Amino acid sequence: MTNPLLSVWDTPFALPPFAAIRDEDFAPAFDVALAEARAAIAAIADNPAAPDFANTIDALELAEGTLDRVSGVFYNLAGADSTDAREALMRDLAPKLSAFSSEVTNNKALFARIEALWQGRDALGLTPEQARVLELYRQMFVRSGARLEGAEAARLTAVKARLAVLGTDFGQNVLAEERGWFMELAEEDLQGLPDFLVGSARAAGVEKGVAGPVITTSRSLIVPFLQFSPRRALREKAYEAWVARGANGNANDNRGVAAEILRLREERAHLLGYASFADFKLEPEMAKTPAAVRDLLMRVWAPARAKALEDAAVLEAMLRADGIAGPLEPWDWRYYSERRRRAEHDLDEAALKPYLSLDAMIAAQFDCANRLFRLDFTPLDVPMYHPDARAWEVTRDGEHVAVFIGDYFARGSKRSGAWCSAMRSQRKLGGDQRAIVVNVCNFAKGDPCLLSYDDARTLFHEFGHALHQMLSDVTYGFISGTSVARDFVELPSQLYEHWLEVPQVLETHARHWQTGEPMPADMLKRLLDAGTYDQGFATVEFVASALVDLAFHEGAAPADPMQKQAEVLEGLGMPRAIRMRHATPHFAHVFSGDGYSSGYYSYMWSEVMDADAFAAFEEVGNPFDPETAARLERFILSAGGSEPPEALYTQFRGRMPGVEALLKGRGLLDAA
Ligand SMILES: [Zn+2]
Repeated sequence: MTNPLLSVWDTPFALPPFAAIRDEDFAPAFDVALAEARAAIAAIADNPAAPDFANTIDALELAEGTLDRVSGVFYNLAGADSTDAREALMRDLAPKLSAFSSEVTNNKALFARIEALWQGRDALGLTPEQARVLELYRQMFVRSGARLEGAEAARLTAVKARLAVLGTDFGQNVLAEERGWFMELAEEDLQGLPDFLVGSARAAGVEKGVAGPVITTSRSLIVPFLQFSPRRALREKAYEAWVARGANGNANDNRGVAAEILRLREERAHLLGYASFADFKLEPEMAKTPAAVRDLLMRVWAPARAKALEDAAVLEAMLRADGIAGPLEPWDWRYYSERRRRAEHDLDEAALKPYLSLDAMIAAQFDCANRLFRLDFTPLDVPMYHPDARAWEVTRDGEHVAVFIGDYFARGSKRSGAWCSAMRSQRKLGGDQRAIVVNVCNFAKGDPCLLSYDDARTLFHEFGHALHQMLSDVTYGFISGTSVARDFVELPSQLYEHWLEVPQVLETHARHWQTGEPMPADMLKRLLDAGTYDQGFATVEFVASALVDLAFHEGAAPADPMQKQAEVLEGLGMPRAIRMRHATPHFAHVFSGDGYSSGYYSYMWSEVMDADAFAAFEEVGNPFDPETAARLERFILSAGGSEPPEALYTQFRGRMPGVEALLKGRGLLDAA
């Protein structure tokens, strides 16, 4: 029988034939794909012809076609809908794929060809995009250790292989912890909880196979529970379970894993000649140095902390008025903050949600993309990998642009959080290949699914990443879509969140799911006015996480990361009722792979730009200004990594931004 992963995909838009793919097809498909890629790489390295751009870089771009295709499907499924078989295969693949990539970057004949092209680049007549791709290939090889020899090269390969295994273990431990814990609620424990939360808690109970409602550590359940439950002891129990993920002294404990990862990262940086892992990691980013990162974070930290301490005093007074001696604890913050929001802004999250149904907010995100970029979205009736996943064809002026998949509901087989990934990236080399882009979220399933305003922001955020992939218009897959510096990649996503704040968007789309009535004008006004509400808290929990991440990678690796974490927080004067947004034992951004290691600050770095970029629309008095939107598409959304991010941003905006727009957007300017 032919393996559906390896056959030609004769499906609409060459989508993966999900209905035909079985878990047991993946391992043999990866074997074939790896063998093919190895043969193609060897043919390039051993080509007797002198190196030129086509026989080296173009050829490298096309060498891993089958591997890209199989990985694109597998890693999406493994994240969004894992099974025991998929998890076992992930563990098995991590060292194999790491070994393959080390083989490529250690291939001396191949590196010699790239180096020869680089040295003679001025005479090659390259397009600007080709010159950039060549520069980035060479940089990737050098940073992977292509210039190391003998024992050092072998050690680096071993370190990277071990790190790949540890990163997979870390993520799987977090998933196991999240699956393993839930708290059953008795009927009297439902007192004070809004209907949407009771509904989600009952649905979660059904998924866990118990009769009554349950709270899990899924953000869409635990956060509203902490906001609304008046039962302090239950809030404490749920909160402590949530923040203890990965630190329970069981088989899923991540503290030792984190320590080993930090040790090996430091060794990797030293082998490559860098003073620290942070120096190594930040070199190709916009920030460039640990000092630049610290400078930005500390400029935001002081006003954010001042604001949070002010707010803590108000909340603690409310706690005392309830007859509780205090002090205000972390499991109290959201509850009193929600009550304060209702009192001061008269904004009740539960009253808001019926206007924010998932379907209405999907229509809103599509409508904004239509007004800005003339994109149209048509539902596709094609087999998906899970019944909850939905697909749309994206077109412009009748021309195919991409396929967009939305997979929105929380389930036990999905890792937590929200993300965007491309099952296939856009590129023109070797044929006009269009993107297949997936947005995955963890909204509590309901009938209908009603979002919080935060959930709606997440939806817009991930869709901003999706636009970066779908509107990509480059020749080389290496720099396509979101293949940009880590501290630039959140610009399109965070920028897109701003359109949710444009009053006419919610005026049009926020309609009561039962009556179809638009959101009352005063409710909308209060919602938008409350935009900066509790930003002291949000900024403190974020910046603390980013500074701990930086401290882990800046100097010598800490023997005990938990102790280091405690020292950093103490040194910062962390407010006692706020903890890190992600504590070390479940800080997947930093430890589940090294994508965001010494890179968690990136969200804030990008926010400096997104606040300033949206101001470009405000300055011309039209949030859908076609000329500004066209510049945004031309210089940022379609450009991928074809130029350094500073150059792209400056072409869009005419200059680089300062930190003021960010502080203003978070309502922290007065505290600065
Ligand atoms: Zn993002």
